[in-house]
Amino acid sequence: MERCIFCDIVRGRAPAARVYEDESVLAFLDLNPANPGHALVIPKEHHQTFLDLPDHLMGPLGIATRRVAAALMRATGAGGFNLMMNNYRVAGQLIAHVHFHVVPRHARDGLRHWPGHPTPSAELEKVAEKVRAALG
Ligand code: 5GP
Ligand code: ZN
Repeated sequence: MERCIFCDIVRGRAPAARVYEDESVLAFLDLNPANPGHALVIPKEHHQTFLDLPDHLMGPLGIATRRVAAALMRATGAGGFNLMMNNYRVAGQLIAHVHFHVVPRHARDGLRHWPGHPTPSAELEKVAEKVRAALG
């Protein structure tokens, strides 16, 4: 495996502003926060994407992420937060160690959502059919 900076952080070999830790999960602040408090929540074990995460880590990661998100709201006075995960390079994943971004949000903070494209329901239904088939 190539060197992974998040694994280095888990092992204490690279610095990070750590905010939460339990047996299987670590959270620390993003070096380039979208807003103050922007945190990354990761499993301590190295897995590349959400699809690679074993079932037994899904619960702990979700529960820890919820706990961190609630604490971030209290700590930053945010009125809300975005929870985001980039999976694979084409979706913007730069660090190949699965991580949730938790971004505290404030009114008029200037952050933008991705643009939506209004689509006729016949088109939506075609795509839904493909997804249902893929789900089997
Ligand atoms: P991705 O695009 O993979 O979802 O996001 C990677 C995130 O990790 C980026 O927001 C980036 O600022 C953050 N990041 C990259 N390297 C480091 C690091 O060494 N320490 C910390 N704390 N954050 C990092
Ligand atoms: Zn890693």
